[in-house]
Amino acid sequence: MSGSVVVLGAVNVDHVVVAGRLPRAGETVVGPAMVRHGGGKGANAAVAAARFGARVHLVAAVGRDDVGDGALAELVESDVDVAHVDRLDGVPTGAADIGGDGRGATQLAGGAGATARVAPDRVRAALRELLPSCGCVLVSTEVPEEAVAAAVEEATAAGVRCVLNPAPVVPAVTRLLRHGPVLTPNRGEAAELAPDLATLAARTGAPVVVTLGGDGVRYVLPDGEAVDVAPHPAKVVDTTGAGDTFNGVLAARLAAGDNLDRAVRTANAAAALSVATAGARGGPTRAQVRVALGE
Ligand code: ATP
Repeated sequence: MSGSVVVLGAVNVDHVVVAGRLPRAGETVVGPAMVRHGGGKGANAAVAAARFGARVHLVAAVGRDDVGDGALAELVESDVDVAHVDRLDGVPTGAADIGGDGRGATQLAGGAGATARVAPDRVRAALRELLPSCGCVLVSTEVPEEAVAAAVEEATAAGVRCVLNPAPVVPAVTRLLRHGPVLTPNRGEAAELAPDLATLAARTGAPVVVTLGGDGVRYVLPDGEAVDVAPHPAKVVDTTGAGDTFNGVLAARLAAGDNLDRAVRTANAAAALSVATAGARGGPTRAQVRVALGE
């Protein structure tokens, strides 16, 4: 049986308003409607991995509020284990206010709330319990840096593969390279991390997988070899969360024992399918991806 996926990251509620254009500083722009849905890179990736068929445990924190109740119910509904999502008193569940112009441009203001209080000792305790049956740990850097470090260190000590999604790029990422995580920056994050990918992969001693939006994926191995994976054809409706689907499915396939090339190609197809539907959450099932790949 393949190992489970453990995800460390944020659980948010997203408030999305689409108006004719984005506001300038100090300006108010009113859209016709507001849509509220689950978000947070950690939660989104966890749901994508679960939809793909992986056993998924999420390590995170939400407030002891109605928003937190709703977020947990949605995750349970999506078959994500939330036993290691802490409920915190006196702090709200994380939220993001997203504005869009309806033509692809977006603005996002996030409030970390409970996510800013994810505690390293809680992360270590959760991972020590979960790692024996885990095939891959996926870490996003929305949680405090000490919590990120705790997860990467525990995974390394247990010999479990770790995927580190440096979104956003924080100083801890550079400090953690010596543990050899598989980095999954997008184009902008890759440029922030290093002037060239070969140097970054050589320093890490592990592949660097760069997501390139509509241009697909490039991964670079520690010996400098670069492999380009063409984008899977997509009918683009909403690209929000494409990276989260990519990371969730990549972790699911690595946990199941795929080699990196196969895992990247599967995640690339899954992320392309995800941009064909609205919203940051979900992603395709394994059967849908197999059909798309002609398997
Ligand atoms: P987000 O922050 O919205 O989750 P991101 O910046 O982390 O996105 P991207 O690099 O934009 O991630 O996209 C992730 C992956 O999704 C790409 O590498 C690709 O596999 C797929 N993808 C995104 N946009 C398209 C597209 N237009 N056509 C095909 N595939 C796409």
